[in-house]
Amino acid sequence: MVKGVKRSLLCDLQNEISYYVPSDISHAIDVLQAHSIAETKELNLVSAKIIDSTIEFIVTNNLGHLLSRQSINKFPDINLEWDYPAEITNCIIDINRNSDFDFSKIFLELESLGCQDLQLRIEDSLFIHEIENILKYADGRMLKSIQLYVANNSSESDEGYIGLVAKFPRITNLFVFNSLLSKVLTPDTAPAYTVARIADRIDFKRGCGIVHPDWFVTTMEHFTESLKFNTCLNRKISIDENGVIRNCPSLGTSFGNVKSVTLTEVARMREFRKIWKVTKSEIEICQLCEFRHICTDCRAFLEEPQNVRSKPLKCGYDPYTNQWSEWSKNPLKLKAMDFYELGLA
Ligand code: SF4
Repeated sequence: MVKGVKRSLLCDLQNEISYYVPSDISHAIDVLQAHSIAETKELNLVSAKIIDSTIEFIVTNNLGHLLSRQSINKFPDINLEWDYPAEITNCIIDINRNSDFDFSKIFLELESLGCQDLQLRIEDSLFIHEIENILKYADGRMLKSIQLYVANNSSESDEGYIGLVAKFPRITNLFVFNSLLSKVLTPDTAPAYTVARIADRIDFKRGCGIVHPDWFVTTMEHFTESLKFNTCLNRKISIDENGVIRNCPSLGTSFGNVKSVTLTEVARMREFRKIWKVTKSEIEICQLCEFRHICTDCRAFLEEPQNVRSKPLKCGYDPYTNQWSEWSKNPLKLKAMDFYELGLA
């Protein structure tokens, strides 16, 4: 149960569903964790009516069962430790026509760091054969997935892009942005990948960091990671189109260039890892929000750019009122939007 300033969120990590819980019910759950139903009623710490509705809520939603005192010890608390057998779990690489890094070396290094998920963002309209020349170095590596964003090249057809994914089975998603129309190119019966055209131009560096309930993640992995680590940056690395290494492409601090330093050296730097440990409990406002362990943080765009502990700028949720509003229309955020040159108002 995650307590917010006005209500709590009960996260059923097994079934990956969250429930809003009013304060009186969350208080009753706390008391019931330490006492039997009969004791709780006797202690009179919670009204009998609230106890009954709490039990009904738990049993109806399959969140728990009524057990005898003797059986309770057979159900120990869930282990909330998080770890992952890799130094780096995911990497973002920005590429343009002038990016001249040694892709072979980079993919090899990512493999030795245990990285499984890669996002490639190609901002120029490369031809498919030029994209293949990059992807061939990822072939045969231990990567689990490649998410590919490419700028539309008007000489290339839908079939050409579908053929690219068929040729490189590690691609799970291919998005061709700056296209004439938005449409999904793979049929519903397609294998485990998606190819889609997107009409919009994507501003990768300034477009990320949006917090929205659609992207909340109620999984054991995300929840437990959030207890000790930053949900956006932990074990992530990025390389920009010039080869500059950062925690995330939208953050300012750089840690050298792939041409002169290895990814392994950077991934092991104390300074590079520092931001991995910034949890939601250290972030103002988020620390009081019931969504703090299922939402994804952002340290690149802050509500107060000079305050490293301020909440993500692109979140429109107020835990004090439990209301969502459009973050980009909030007059209090205009200064920060100007600072980041977001120009959305
Ligand atoms: S206030 Fe913080 S924890 Fe809550 S939804 Fe927004 S970013 Fe997430």
